[in-house]
Amino acid sequence: MIEANGLTKRYGERLAVDRLTFTVKPGQVTGFLGPNGAGKSTTMRLILGLDAPTSGTVTIDGRPFSKVAYPMREVGALLDAKAIHGGRSAYNHLVCLAQTNNLPKSRVGEVLDLVGLSEVARKRAKGFSLGMSQRLGIAAALLGDPKLLMFDEPVNGLDPEGILWIRNLMKALAAEGRTVFVSSHLMSEMENTADHLIVIGRGRLVADCTVTEFIDQNSELTIRVRTPERDRLAGLATGKGGVVAHDGEDALRITRLGMTEIGDLAFDNQIRVHELSPIQASLEQAFMELTKDSVEYHAAVPGRPAAGAIADAAAVATEVVSGAIQHGGR
Ligand code: ADP
Repeated sequence: MIEANGLTKRYGERLAVDRLTFTVKPGQVTGFLGPNGAGKSTTMRLILGLDAPTSGTVTIDGRPFSKVAYPMREVGALLDAKAIHGGRSAYNHLVCLAQTNNLPKSRVGEVLDLVGLSEVARKRAKGFSLGMSQRLGIAAALLGDPKLLMFDEPVNGLDPEGILWIRNLMKALAAEGRTVFVSSHLMSEMENTADHLIVIGRGRLVADCTVTEFIDQNSELTIRVRTPERDRLAGLATGKGGVVAHDGEDALRITRLGMTEIGDLAFDNQIRVHELSPIQASLEQAFMELTKDSVEYHAAVPGRPAAGAIADAAAVATEVVSGAIQHGGR
């Protein structure tokens, strides 16, 4: 279990982590979500004692990491996959780690198998792709068979097969009762992997809830209705306070009205309905929803690089967070 209490880190003028209080529990995958620059890596470094907090505390099972007697047996972390001695083979890299941490050498073969690197174990790490380096970093994290695992953006550079592999690995580790804390700026990735979410922006806590709660709280349910009397139902739904959009020739998308209300409205007016279905908002939509109020402000910020929709929403989130907090949260 990780417990952060008022955790704060300032680099000069920059407040990288701003009074973060949260708990990461065992037995589930906790996603640490936030746009680039939100403070995820800094928080992870603070958890691992690689940086000292300006104020506040963070503990692992009640103790600061510096007081943990056998670090690799308690905590496995992948922070920067390329931060390895490139001249060493994967095998030698892991043997060195095992020896300096008093771990059995036999464990090296086990973790190499586990991450699928056995065949290239004797090759030098500097020739590794980012995906292979990620796997090697994960092997190192698993070496001490730790109860707590932390991965910083582990899917970066992985192909779809690698992403699926990591996702399943994290779920399996959590199912064994371990604490799994994984950061990402990709909402879509967290949606498929995490049980619980801790969302930050500009170093501050935005949300601490389950994935389902996050979607429910940050997105409106949309109902799709297919009917041969599309326009009549649209008029009636609007009259009841629904927000209505056309969805093709014979269907509508309605928000602000529930499924029962729409069904009853159609029945009361003798309108035939051929489909009435809820459209579940994705985590990405929820994240966009959380950030949409700041789009104008975002557009006014000079010099921000244009990027894809996800990266863009992520960048926007940086601006919205203070607003979300000031307005009483989500
Ligand atoms: P994330 O991992 O969410 O992308 P980081 O924790 O890397 O975010 O960074 C948070 C903020 O702190 C960024 O503005 C970053 O530039 C700043 N920062 C991180 N590390 C340092 C450092 N060593 N010195 C100065 N600023 C830093």
